Amino acid sequence: MTRRSLTILGATGSVGRSTLDLVARNRECYQVVALTAHKDVAGLAAQAKAFGARLAVIGDPALLGALEAALAGSDVQAAAGPEAVDEAAASGADWTMAAIVGTAGLKPVMRALEAGGTVAFANKEALVSAGALMTEAARASGATLLPVDSEHNAVFQCFDRARPGSVRKIILTASGGPFRTWPLERMRAATPAEAVAHPNWSMGAKISVDCATLMNKGLELIEAYHLFPVGAEALDVVVHPQSVIHSLVEYVDGSVLAQLGAPDMRVPIAHTLAWPERMETPCERLDLVAIGALGFEAPDLGRFPALGLARQALAEGGAKPAILNAANEIAVASFLESGIGFLDIAAVVGAVLDRYAPPAPTSIDEVVEIDREARRVAGEVTGKIRN
Ligand code: NAD
Ligand code: MG
Repeated sequence: MTRRSLTILGATGSVGRSTLDLVARNRECYQVVALTAHKDVAGLAAQAKAFGARLAVIGDPALLGALEAALAGSDVQAAAGPEAVDEAAASGADWTMAAIVGTAGLKPVMRALEAGGTVAFANKEALVSAGALMTEAARASGATLLPVDSEHNAVFQCFDRARPGSVRKIILTASGGPFRTWPLERMRAATPAEAVAHPNWSMGAKISVDCATLMNKGLELIEAYHLFPVGAEALDVVVHPQSVIHSLVEYVDGSVLAQLGAPDMRVPIAHTLAWPERMETPCERLDLVAIGALGFEAPDLGRFPALGLARQALAEGGAKPAILNAANEIAVASFLESGIGFLDIAAVVGAVLDRYAPPAPTSIDEVVEIDREARRVAGEVTGKIRN
């Protein structure tokens, strides 16, 4: 494989660290250009020095001095602030990992897409809020968009892009999260620690809570809608507690193709790092005999209303997916700070969605505006619940 230059947006997070773990095992194939993080100066500086990055950017501008001090004596250039993160995204690397969490990633991801290289997409919130604008930017610049989210990476591996008309259905699998079998009353009292304790995957706090509410699967429905040329009605969800099948594609002739693997994000990340080739990984191999049986259930929309809300936002279109996402980010943050209860998360999102319906955004600035307003309204709603 020819050596590729690489930038990681959100290098210190769960996906960012998994990406660097793979790069460390294949040093001769990758040259690190830029790494970014939000507040973890020590983590970022250590990564930048270990991988010989040209540039390290900390999102919080107040931390520039600390980053410079941490990088003193090295060749790594330091920068800080949201504009510097945007510039790092436009660094012209062959391959960029978009692994910032939340709509904080909107502008940087857009810059990476406009720069026209390969963008490995983990930051699902950006795609949910601004999917049409993102895929259009990729088309215009010729950027290649590779899905990192395990379900979408699975679909990508099974989907016949030359014959999209032959696909009848995309079936996303969901683990069901830590509360899959909990009765509603127990869910009402669920704590942040219980919600982030995912049975199969180790991930950042926000996405772990999204898995517990099933909002993650809702966001993934919208993500799939933008990544694959099938209509919303062709997108299905099935609960599969073992997280062995990462998703499936059903064809018109009745054939169903699936991608399987151990629940380790390094598998889909490796797929995007090496694509269109393959690379070795240290990931656990599937032992089908040891697994024995795979289970499947329909999602329970009564206990997990977030999934229904996401479907509704996708069907209504316009600015609704961006509002859904922003309200969810606020509600999850409030839940993690013990401000609202677990079941309040979906209630807040539903209340904000019902409040108003602005037109579809036509630019990233408009998405940012919709996002800001939805956060304000969601803050109001969570404030009322808290009091
Ligand atoms: P994380 O919280 O572990 O890491 C987030 C990263 O974003 C960190 O590097 C952090 O410094 C950076 N960041 C946070 N706020 C920022 C801001 N305001 N400005 C700039 N940078 C900021 O999250 P994660 O679990 O690695 O998830 C990253 C993204 O990938 C999310 O969108 C998530 O939905 C998606 N994803 C994650 C997984 C997983 O297994 N962790 C799986 C599928 C998809
Ligand atoms: Mg996923």
